[in-house]
Amino acid sequence: MQRLVVALVGTPNVGKSTIFNRIIGERKAIIDDTRGVTRDRIYGTASWLTKTFGVIDTGGIEIKNVPFQTEIRLQAEIAINEADVIVFLTDAKLGVTNDDIFIAKMLQKSKKKVILAVNKVDDFSLISRVNDFYELGFGTPLPLSGVHGTGIGDLLDQIVAFIKEDYLEEAAVSEATIALIGQVNVGKSSLVNAMLNEERVVVSPVAGTTRDSIDTTF
Ligand code: GDP
Ligand code: MG
Repeated sequence: MQRLVVALVGTPNVGKSTIFNRIIGERKAIIDDTRGVTRDRIYGTASWLTKTFGVIDTGGIEIKNVPFQTEIRLQAEIAINEADVIVFLTDAKLGVTNDDIFIAKMLQKSKKKVILAVNKVDDFSLISRVNDFYELGFGTPLPLSGVHGTGIGDLLDQIVAFIKEDYLEEAAVSEATIALIGQVNVGKSSLVNAMLNEERVVVSPVAGTTRDSIDTTF
């Protein structure tokens, strides 16, 4: 039996990577104002009270066919399939968008457990907007502020409530660590995918495709 896995899913720029870094307690994923920075799946481990679970950060899903959207969506879909619980992140400043509705349909089809969270609720002026997100059909939306850290404890409470007896803690194993380093476009990501025999990282001829540092086990 494996530990519970949570995937953070949402449109670009809603604060998925910000919330990911907050819940794993490390600055692992790159956070930026620019849309579409996260492309790959980023894995982390979080602990809350006595419980431990896995977390996956994903790139932003949107309807528009922007560069890398096909690859980003494939990576996000792999994360959704692997996860037991999805945290569906939305943005209070934007309100419900067509992209949110698109993702809501995707998640409904996945039949996974979904926690709906509304990020960027930085002050009370935005709290009244949170109820608009009921329309997405995932019950009571949870207000968060990734920059201030408010609501994160409530989110973690909701996540660990899904951890039942049958999720075991993984025993700590010591592993040898190998880093693949080289200049742009020499084929580092292709080599990783070949070693793992899966689409673990996005590969393209565009220099600088990989942004985050990716770690994985084989
Ligand atoms: P992602 O694309 O969903 O991973 O979003 P990021 O985590 O990279 O954040 C996108 C932008 O939103 C960055 O400029 C963040 O600093 C900003 N951001 C994240 N969380 C909050 C929040 O709670 N409030 C505000 N005002 N900005 C936030
Ligand atoms: Mg991101």
